[in-house]
Amino acid sequence: METIKTDILIAGAGISGLSAAHHLEKRGRKNYLLVEKAADYGGLCGSVQKDGYTFDWSGHLLHLHTNDGMKLVKNLLGGNINRLERSAWIYSHQACTGYPFQASLYGLPKDIITECVTGAVRARENNSPPKPGACFRDWALSLFGDGICRHFMFPYNEKLWGVPPQELGSDWCAPFVPRPSLDEIIRGAYWPGDKKFGYNPSFLYPLKGGCRALCAALAENVKNLKLGCELEKVDLHAKTAVVKNLGKVKYKKLIATVPLKTLAGLAALPAELRRHADALKAQKVRVLNLGFPCKTADKHWIYFPEADFPFYRAGIASNFSPNAAPAGHSSFYIEIPAQNCAGNEAAIEKSVLKGLERCGLLPKNPPKPDSVLRLDIETAYAVYNSDRAPAVQALTAYLGKHGCHCTGRYGLWRYSFMEQDLLDARDLALKLSR
Ligand SMILES: Cc1cc2nc3c(=O)[nH]c(=O)nc-3n(C[C@H](O)[C@H](O)[C@H](O)COP(=O)(O)OP(=O)(O)OC[C@H]3O[C@@H](n4cnc5c(N)ncnc54)[C@H](O)[C@@H]3O)c2cc1C
Repeated sequence: METIKTDILIAGAGISGLSAAHHLEKRGRKNYLLVEKAADYGGLCGSVQKDGYTFDWSGHLLHLHTNDGMKLVKNLLGGNINRLERSAWIYSHQACTGYPFQASLYGLPKDIITECVTGAVRARENNSPPKPGACFRDWALSLFGDGICRHFMFPYNEKLWGVPPQELGSDWCAPFVPRPSLDEIIRGAYWPGDKKFGYNPSFLYPLKGGCRALCAALAENVKNLKLGCELEKVDLHAKTAVVKNLGKVKYKKLIATVPLKTLAGLAALPAELRRHADALKAQKVRVLNLGFPCKTADKHWIYFPEADFPFYRAGIASNFSPNAAPAGHSSFYIEIPAQNCAGNEAAIEKSVLKGLERCGLLPKNPPKPDSVLRLDIETAYAVYNSDRAPAVQALTAYLGKHGCHCTGRYGLWRYSFMEQDLLDARDLALKLSR
């Protein structure tokens, strides 16, 4: 095969890679090549049509915080947008309470409320705000006290991240963990909450096509996209890559949206950088999508801190858009962390169904699901342990010096969301094409 030559090689056609290519096209910069290993584009922002349902890779909701992001998404989706007010809950102690747990204790058993409130008061009396660089355990204890930590912060986050709270950093917490005042914690213990806390009180979701609709809108003008073409090797010094089904590609600049740890395995790196790459840890998640021939609650999603539920979150996709499931049906996405996925698939799914019945999302003796789709996300959460920041810094600096620029949630090994990834990839592509 003849060597392909391009100015900008983009690896990975998730929302980041698509955004980079889309914006290069819009500026008339046609000399790029976008390669994607899968048979479809979208990455984790893709969707799968099955049995009349539209399933996503778990809930993928557009939380937009900037005018820039809002304008871009509205231009892309046009009228294909549903706007929703969040209905998020926590299920624990056989009660469903509002989100966030720390400001919505109302509805829990009285002894649990007392433990949480007194713990929070004691923590604030100590008046020792979290120290910079504190581990998640110390960060959460100093802000919320031992009761809220014992009943939510610790078990929920250990389930989600797959590491104990003392091994997790706190540098991911803002803007994801709301920090109510003590007055708000106390008020939320005695009255049902009315204040909308957190980064996502309302959100957008495509009316048709699931999350993939946004990727489809980005992909519309992207001419140089090659599917089924995996980046297999990178020679950082020669600025060449080997791509499955395409052969050798000579580039001037490389935009990498593939996971940083994967990328590090494709290039020859000095030993110290290899050690950094080896230290990067990710949490794997199974998304179990289920369709049912019955209706369910009108909630959007529920968090589950307790160990006897194998999942940490269950969402109801059919409440995001009437087109996500056939009329009269409902669809769920259940997020199961890797540590609860070991063993027999049938037994895992049975305990998921039991859990949905116990918390009331399914009626007693529910009908059998009429659609099941398991989606495994190998790299779902980049774990914020003490190795992460120095490793990302060292690796991205070295790669950048050699014309390989990382972006996206996994390219930068971070806890980001779609808006941030869309805009960062656009800005990077436009900067590199100047
Ligand atoms: C469980 C979960 C729920 C989430 N919910 C939300 C939400 O509600 N709202 C929100 O805004 N964000 C959410 N996110 C975050 C969102 O998924 C990311 O921000 C976004 O998908 C990142 O896009 P990306 O293009 O950077 O990465 P990806 O989507 O991972 O895309 C990378 C692409 O690279 C391809 N690739 C990998 N290796 C190679 C290779 N060697 N060669 C070629 N191609 C390769 C992959 O196939 C993939 O298509 C969630 C994430 C998770 C895990």
